[in-house]
Amino acid sequence: MLRKSLAAFVALVVLGLSALFTFGQKIDENLPDWNDVYEFFGMAEEIEKGEVYEQPFTMSFLDVGQGSATLIHCKDPDFTMLVDTGEQGNDGVIQEELKRLGTRKLDYVVLSHPHSDHVGSFPELAKSNLSIKNVMLPIVDQDHLGDDTALYRVILGSIRSSGAKIVTAKPGMRLTFDAKKSDQKVTVEVLGPIGGKENQYQDDLNDRSIFVKITYGDVSLLITGDGEYHEEMDVIDWLNSDEGKASGITAQSTIYVAGHHGSHTSSSRRFLAMVKPKYGIISCGKDNEFGHPHESTLTNFKDVNARVYRTDELGTIVIGTDGKTLVN
Ligand SMILES: [Zn+2]
Ligand SMILES: [Zn+2]
Repeated sequence: MLRKSLAAFVALVVLGLSALFTFGQKIDENLPDWNDVYEFFGMAEEIEKGEVYEQPFTMSFLDVGQGSATLIHCKDPDFTMLVDTGEQGNDGVIQEELKRLGTRKLDYVVLSHPHSDHVGSFPELAKSNLSIKNVMLPIVDQDHLGDDTALYRVILGSIRSSGAKIVTAKPGMRLTFDAKKSDQKVTVEVLGPIGGKENQYQDDLNDRSIFVKITYGDVSLLITGDGEYHEEMDVIDWLNSDEGKASGITAQSTIYVAGHHGSHTSSSRRFLAMVKPKYGIISCGKDNEFGHPHESTLTNFKDVNARVYRTDELGTIVIGTDGKTLVN
């Protein structure tokens, strides 16, 4: 912090002097403020403290230990989405946050890929009195599921009994929800997985993760499940393809949840260069056996000047916004 302030101070002096030389007497109005200095050097500022639940739009990165579960809630449009559920036994954490948000309805549940640390609590949620409208699933080849076959069948059964509609994630998909009292809207866009059952990475379920981007005003959030290097490259290729360009979808996002809990196999430099996040969230368990997050991932985030927040250090992280400013 001290070093950053010092660098910023030096920058302020330099910019101030250049303003003096450039604008002579009009120095006062041309002096850059701290935000200009931070922006000039690409340094990410800490998110401001504020009344997070009073904001019109909130993102709750739930502490589900080694796993991932994110609740996105908007007051107007009245929209709630859950991306992944964490391991079995985390339904209480999700229910508690829903209570805090004052809703019993999930418009969308995105199950990024059928690994237990992402879908484990779905059966409990499906059995509860929550109203689940839609469940988004990736295309996976059931013949390649191996050990994950049983869990996948349980999930399909739970979706059926919950009465939710299954929506298949396809790149280019865009859902828009309009506010009633303003011209605000929530947009949900799908960037991956690419292709269907023929995709060459079907043997690795992580690389079949749904990549989903949610936008409210100027603020966007990208979640990529456990998508690893191959899928990140697939998505970049798709974004650069004619179809990807025509979709108008970009990877650029204010907040990015590090793929695969901050593993070095995800959040590659090439992918981060496309996402250009200001803030990174890492969802992982304290002292987890995989050593997540890996050092190289933290370095990659640092190199794009993204500030990182970790659930293993902070517990549940809630960020709210009015579509412009972030508070937490
Ligand atoms: Zn996984
Ligand atoms: Zn995982």
